[in-house]
Amino acid sequence: SHCPFCTENLPNRETFCEIHYMETTIVPDGIRKGYPMEINFELIESRIIQMKDELLNIIYKKTSSYFRNFVFEICNILGQIKANTPMAIMERFETLKPGYYGTRGMSIITEILNSLFLYTHILTNELSYPKSPVDYILEIMVPETALHLISQDKGGITLEEARKIMEDSSTFESRDRKNVNSVRDQDQQSRKYKQSESWDRRIGINDQ
Ligand SMILES: [Zn+2]
Repeated sequence: SHCPFCTENLPNRETFCEIHYMETTIVPDGIRKGYPMEINFELIESRIIQMKDELLNIIYKKTSSYFRNFVFEICNILGQIKANTPMAIMERFETLKPGYYGTRGMSIITEILNSLFLYTHILTNELSYPKSPVDYILEIMVPETALHLISQDKGGITLEEARKIMEDSSTFESRDRKNVNSVRDQDQQSRKYKQSESWDRRIGINDQ
């Protein structure tokens, strides 16, 4: 069968191709649920700098962190070696996706956190143990930062409420306000990004 919008061949029993599934189902569903259609990605850096103290409290374990508990629990259950295999990383990655901030938001947030906490050696091996500082940023600090951003987007809802939105909006991607692409462009961009080497490096597949 074919997608009714673009006549792309459909391998299984799907009704639409991936791109038109986004446009016909994911996007309207996201709008109905009140996810922002657009995010100003250029403002993310200053927003994160403003929440730096709260993020430092997570690093210094002065505050509880859902994602620190979550990641450390997996470490305890699977043991460190197994928890770092590519499959385990991929599965975890799905859970840690920053909701409607999407893959683009994830890469931007990661870069900013790296320059704030990693390159400055604030996040040491000692503080990140049993994770490496790189993994700690990706698996704990990126989703925690996304929670804070989503909480702000929604007028200061609790982090618990923000986490529900983050999980629920993981298939939705807000567009860049400064660079309004079609869903198709954005989808192709994120695909290209996922395929790139830096992606593998970022999620730690080539770390061993
Ligand atoms: Zn299509």
